Amino acid sequence: MTTYICVTCGAQFAETDAPPPACPICEDPRQYVPESGQAWTTPAELAAGHRTEVRADGELTGVGMEPPFAIAQRALLVPHGERRLMWDCIPLLDDAAAAEVERGGGLSGIAISHPHYYSGMVEWARRFGCPVLLHADDAEWIMRPDAAVELWDGETKDLGDGLTLIRCGGHFAGGQVLHTETTLLSGDIVQVIPDRSHVSFMYSYPNLVPLPAETVRDIAARLEPYAFDALYGAWWGTVLGTGAHAIVQRSAARYIDALQGKLP
Ligand SMILES: [Zn+2]
Ligand SMILES: [Zn+2]
Repeated sequence: MTTYICVTCGAQFAETDAPPPACPICEDPRQYVPESGQAWTTPAELAAGHRTEVRADGELTGVGMEPPFAIAQRALLVPHGERRLMWDCIPLLDDAAAAEVERGGGLSGIAISHPHYYSGMVEWARRFGCPVLLHADDAEWIMRPDAAVELWDGETKDLGDGLTLIRCGGHFAGGQVLHTETTLLSGDIVQVIPDRSHVSFMYSYPNLVPLPAETVRDIAARLEPYAFDALYGAWWGTVLGTGAHAIVQRSAARYIDALQGKLP
């Protein structure tokens, strides 16, 4: 028995004797099964060929994988009272990453923007005895159910010490972002793009399927009341250092214009 890991999205599945028949996350139109077919790895194989990479990214500490694996996101460790909250997650947990987390007092919890980054959440939660905070609207995408997973309902969740989860929807129905006193952590829900004067929003990023104008207008309206200057996307270096609130609003307006035939 082992917890098979999808090589394309990095999701870890509940223990089975044989690899699962398919990865529902990758079979969904927002992801893809590669032309070469569905492939699996195991925690032991993954650890043999990869290590975690812990380093500063902007003002926060990031945790990623070397060499990059699956979607290759990096997680972020966000100060939260005496401990840190892990924002998004990665498929691998090794001793180096655990030592870094322990140096910071452990984890208060793990909150994940959407199912593409559920990855190794149960491994991390068990190691640090903390909950995984996911939005209930995405419950169907949990491939490894566990008592550590805490689903929340509604539009916002106050985590205390200045942290708030905001359900934005869009890319996923339960797509959530994390607001701190100065910063928005957005995963793929608000996407940092090469042109740092704008961000973007999509139903599928790999398959280039846009969101309806109404949905993008709704995401912008949900974020408008929150003050933030910086914004962190899903990968190393996807950081808007300043002016992010205006960038999000301006980008939503540009996106809606484009859908209505008014190209920039
Ligand atoms: Zn997958
Ligand atoms: Zn995604």
